[in-house]
Amino acid sequence: MSTNYDDVRQNLISMLEELDERLTTITNDIRHADGDVEKDFEEMATQNENNEVQDFLGNSARVEIAAIRNAIARIDSGEYHICQTCDEVINPERLKAVPYSVQCIKCASLNEKI
Ligand SMILES: [Zn+2]
Repeated sequence: MSTNYDDVRQNLISMLEELDERLTTITNDIRHADGDVEKDFEEMATQNENNEVQDFLGNSARVEIAAIRNAIARIDSGEYHICQTCDEVINPERLKAVPYSVQCIKCASLNEKI
């Protein structure tokens, strides 16, 4: 049985492009905020809080981008549907719900307790 993941791959690539765009926006926002040096202390504190939120958003986008790149590489190497931990086949429904999962539901639930 061979499965064709072209559609999934295409989908992952559009997700990647969207995230890249989001990341660029976030990064530009941070750069803009850093450029404003003439602020009083209270404003600076608010600014820093904003930067922390944007840092967090940026980091989660980066993590997601890495996961999606990994999924695309797994499709290319023919391992997309194989659990990275136990080598069992990942349920196709799970891959449909989370297209960049690298673990079967059993291993993922052991790790994340979801
Ligand atoms: Zn597994």
